[in-house]
Amino acid sequence: MAITYNNLYLDIRRAFRLAGIEAASLEARELVCHVSGKSREQFLMDMNYYISSQLEQEIRALARRRLEGEPAAYLLGEWSFYGLDLDVDKTVLIPRSDTEVVAEQAILRAREAGEKVRVLDLCAGTGCIGLAVGTNVPDCRVVLADTSADAVRVCRQNIRRCSRRSNVTCFQVDARQDPPAMLWDFDVIVSNPPYIPTGDLAGLDGSVRDYEPQLALDGGEDGLDFYRVITAKWKKIIRPKGWLIYEVGIHQAGDVEAILRREGFQSVSSYTDPAGILRVVEGQWPGTAREEKEASKQ
Ligand code: GLN
Repeated sequence: MAITYNNLYLDIRRAFRLAGIEAASLEARELVCHVSGKSREQFLMDMNYYISSQLEQEIRALARRRLEGEPAAYLLGEWSFYGLDLDVDKTVLIPRSDTEVVAEQAILRAREAGEKVRVLDLCAGTGCIGLAVGTNVPDCRVVLADTSADAVRVCRQNIRRCSRRSNVTCFQVDARQDPPAMLWDFDVIVSNPPYIPTGDLAGLDGSVRDYEPQLALDGGEDGLDFYRVITAKWKKIIRPKGWLIYEVGIHQAGDVEAILRREGFQSVSSYTDPAGILRVVEGQWPGTAREEKEASKQ
């Protein structure tokens, strides 16, 4: 029997709610809009029209996959982060809203650095953090780097999608190796590296564990492998007075602060996300002796 857009939406919303999906209304509406090619406004205008049975079946098939645990971002092929619509596929981690505080801090530090600031997003995934910086800091240059060829492909798509070809580029680079010669002299290095302790991977929520790439999650035995190696190897290419900014997992801020201090960073501090979890840790690379003297004269 024919069904209207609105009744199909309500059906799916009900099923999502029963399954305990938190953003049931939003996800149900996004699914209907995405498959039928309608904007949110068009959906509201057309909601009492009948939907074709082919579209209805396509939408119901995706809704079933969602109910089986597949994340909405992968079903839709896109997700929004810091006001940007980004391509997402199963080769990259889905941008989290928690990560917006990391982007915020990187934007702040990049703005402070003044004109022609250079920013590196290491372990970029979709490129979400670097693109948020590249879009919100006038006159900045951003490099997105990731070890996965698939992530680099997604980054390229997102650079194009956000019309950032003029100031954002990307490279395939392994954060665990020494920085390649083509990358040098950054005012800000920002990174959301894999940080889940290997032993905790099996206990993650099914929609993360079974669908998101393990490469983007596994931070080694204590989850801190990437912080140790990035801090030690990549500090060499941070400009004097530049910043290294990390996203960290729950209960990791203290350990990551200690790593930064041990490697010679100053002004090390942590900031919370909207849920009150310490999510951002940053440290400043010291200036050279001459610059310190200049600064103290002012
Ligand atoms: N925040 C992600 C999660 O909880 C993990 C991201 C990461 O390892 N960088 O699933």
